[in-house]
Amino acid sequence: MRSQIRRKQQMREFKIRDFLSVRRILYWRWKLWRSQYYSSEKMKALQWKLFSSMLDHCLEHVAYYKDEFKRLGLSRSDFRSLDDLSKLPVINKWTMLDNFERFKADNMKKFRPTPCFTSGSTGTPMAFLLDIHSNVIEMTCQWRHFSWTGYRLGQPFADIRNKILVTLEDHKWNWQCRSLHIPAPAINASNIGYYAELFKKHRIRFWRGHPSALHHLCLVMSDTGEKSMMPERIVCSGEPVLEYQRSFIESFTGVRICDDFGLFEHTALISQCPEGGYHVNPEYAIVEILKEDGSHAKDGEEGRIVGTGLHNRIIPLLRYDTCDYAVQSSKTCTCGRTLPLLEKLTGRSIERLLTADGRWASEMRIAIKYGKNIRMSQFVQEKPGEIDLYIVPNKDGFSIEDSRKMFDELTKYFGKTTVLRTHVVSEVPYHEPGKYKFVVNKLASASKPAESALTASRR
Ligand SMILES: [Zn+2]
Repeated sequence: MRSQIRRKQQMREFKIRDFLSVRRILYWRWKLWRSQYYSSEKMKALQWKLFSSMLDHCLEHVAYYKDEFKRLGLSRSDFRSLDDLSKLPVINKWTMLDNFERFKADNMKKFRPTPCFTSGSTGTPMAFLLDIHSNVIEMTCQWRHFSWTGYRLGQPFADIRNKILVTLEDHKWNWQCRSLHIPAPAINASNIGYYAELFKKHRIRFWRGHPSALHHLCLVMSDTGEKSMMPERIVCSGEPVLEYQRSFIESFTGVRICDDFGLFEHTALISQCPEGGYHVNPEYAIVEILKEDGSHAKDGEEGRIVGTGLHNRIIPLLRYDTCDYAVQSSKTCTCGRTLPLLEKLTGRSIERLLTADGRWASEMRIAIKYGKNIRMSQFVQEKPGEIDLYIVPNKDGFSIEDSRKMFDELTKYFGKTTVLRTHVVSEVPYHEPGKYKFVVNKLASASKPAESALTASRR
C-alpha cells in the first residue's frame, strides 16, 4: 500500500559513467560480502566510522547543518557514538525542498553530481543530485541482494516496468548491465510470443521489476499458456508487493519473490532475502524506526522509517523521514546473515485511510489478499469515514463470494461505522501510466507528513 511509485521512484536506468569508480566498487564488493555476517558491535563500529566522517563533512561544507548546529547549541564534540544521533531533529522532504540550496555541499563538484528527477509519490516534483560514491554503494548493495538469489554479475536479466519507455519502443537492451527493459503495458496476448522470443534470445532467467508489471506479465502468460519465459529468480523493486500479486506470481512461476525497498534520496535500503527476512543495509544508511512521539519503536511496534544516508555528500540527509512505516524486530534471520531485520514494511503516511472513529488504517494490503480474481484494485478516500474500493476483475470475474470475505476482513480494519463502497470497474479511477497508486487519499490531513507530531515536536 505504499504508493506504487514510492521508493527509488523511477528505478533509474543504469549508465556506467554514474558508477565509474573501480577502486570503490572493488572495495565495497569485498566489504559488503563480509559485513553481512558482522557482529552487531562490528557493524556499529563501521556505521560510526561512516557517520563521523559524514558529520565532519556536513559541519565543514553544508550551510544547513552549520546553521542547525548553531541554532540547537550543538557542537561536533556532542557526537561521540551512534546514540547521539537522536540529538539531531528529524527532517523530511519539505525541510529539504524549502532549504534546497543550503543542503548542497559547497564542494559538491568533487563528488561528480548526477542530476535526477522524480514526480514524487506526494505529487511534489523533485530534482535531486546523487554523488558517485552513493551510486557505487547503492549498486554494490543491489548486487549483493541479487547475489542472494543466485545471480552472478554479468548474467542477463529482464527489467520489467509498469510504464512505457520514453522512446516508445517495445523493448530496449542495455548492454552496459545486460538488462532487457520491457514496458509491461505493451505486453498482451497477441504479442506474448514476440516477448518469449526476446527472452530466449537474451537468455533471460532473472526478472527484476515493478510487482504490478510482473503480475501483468504472469497474467498474460497464464491466459495464453506461454511457459517458455519462466524465471528462476525474481526481485521486485520500485513498488510495494501487494499480497495478491505475490501469491499469484509465486504460485504461477514457482519462484519466491525477493522484495527491495529504497529511496531516491539514498537514505534507506532494505532487501528481502529468499527466506523472507527484510534486512536493513546498515553499511548504506542508519535506519531508525520512530514512533509518532519521536521515541524508538520497540520489538513488534510500528513506526516511521527514518534514514541517515552515509554516502551522499552532495546533499547529505541526516535523520530523514521517509514517510514509510515498518515494524521493528530484533529477531535473527534463518538465512544466517546478521544484517538487522524489520518484521515487515507497513505503508506510507499518505496511503492510510481515516476511519469513522478517527483512526488511520493501514493494513488494507493484508485484507485484499482475501479477495480472489482481482486484476487491480484501488482505495479512494474523499471524506473522513467514507472509503471507496475500486476492483478491476480478472478474466474469471469478481463474484459476490469473492467480495464477501474481503469485505468482512476490511470491516475488521475500518470498523463497522466506516462506510465502505465497493465498485467493480474496468479501470481504476486514478490510472495515469506509471503512476498507479493502491491508495489515493484526498483528505488534506493525509497529505503532508510535516504536520506530524514526529517532526513538529522536534523543531
Ligand atoms: Zn535473511
